[in-house]
Amino acid sequence: MNIAIDIDDTITNTFEYLQPYTAEYCSHPLEELKEKVISYDNTPPEWGLVMNEFAKKYFDLLIPDTPVKDGAADVIRALRRLGHRIIIITHRNNTLYSDCYLTTQLELKNCGIEYDLLICTGDKLKACQRERVDLLIDDTFSNLDNVSKAGIDVLMFLSPVNGCYSKQFKTVKSWDEIRKLLIPSTSREIVKGRYRHFKNKYYEVVDIAIHSETRERYVVYRALYGDKALYIRPYEMFASLVDKTKYPNAGQEYRFELVN
Ligand SMILES: [Mg+2]
Repeated sequence: MNIAIDIDDTITNTFEYLQPYTAEYCSHPLEELKEKVISYDNTPPEWGLVMNEFAKKYFDLLIPDTPVKDGAADVIRALRRLGHRIIIITHRNNTLYSDCYLTTQLELKNCGIEYDLLICTGDKLKACQRERVDLLIDDTFSNLDNVSKAGIDVLMFLSPVNGCYSKQFKTVKSWDEIRKLLIPSTSREIVKGRYRHFKNKYYEVVDIAIHSETRERYVVYRALYGDKALYIRPYEMFASLVDKTKYPNAGQEYRFELVN
């Protein structure tokens, strides 16, 4: 599939991240913004936020360090490994950024997001059609509405402000939910214990570890033969099915199967 994915409040927690800066710019207490669920893109008109001015003041500086949502990098990487083409699609432009592509590339790198194509555009529908997108994951109603009316599947990532539209689209509130929807074969849980590899060697799963920089999950496991070496392998790969095209005679369904 060609999967298009929005950034702000889909891959990253932009809404919460920019709340303190919105409060500063508008001279309102942060507590008030939190209480009223207000951030940079939904301030009341009387607060006088001028988006171009706000963006010039903060975006180049802050956006590269926007916190990534839990599991986003991990799931997107796993989707690419399964052969899906990942198109990052964002409504950013150079009136808001000095160079929207450069800033966004830096942000995606910092977030550990692997992708095939980055598109900054004001017309997501046109870009989705041009790239033959099969599925758009986004949090903004108008994008989802336009794209779904053109017959493309959409998934709404719930944000602090879009819940009122949640009946209209299939929704998710975490990347773990996306993992379960799009990567069914690897939604199985890997627990500690003894596993048989499809090439008939035995291993002990010691624990699950998180990569400190990319947040990707890894399985830590020890060979139960030879020098008893300790290995790590990406979680999705450890949990995946045996490639039956490559190994038609494999005697088990999964690459590693629990045997105790
Ligand atoms: Mg968004």
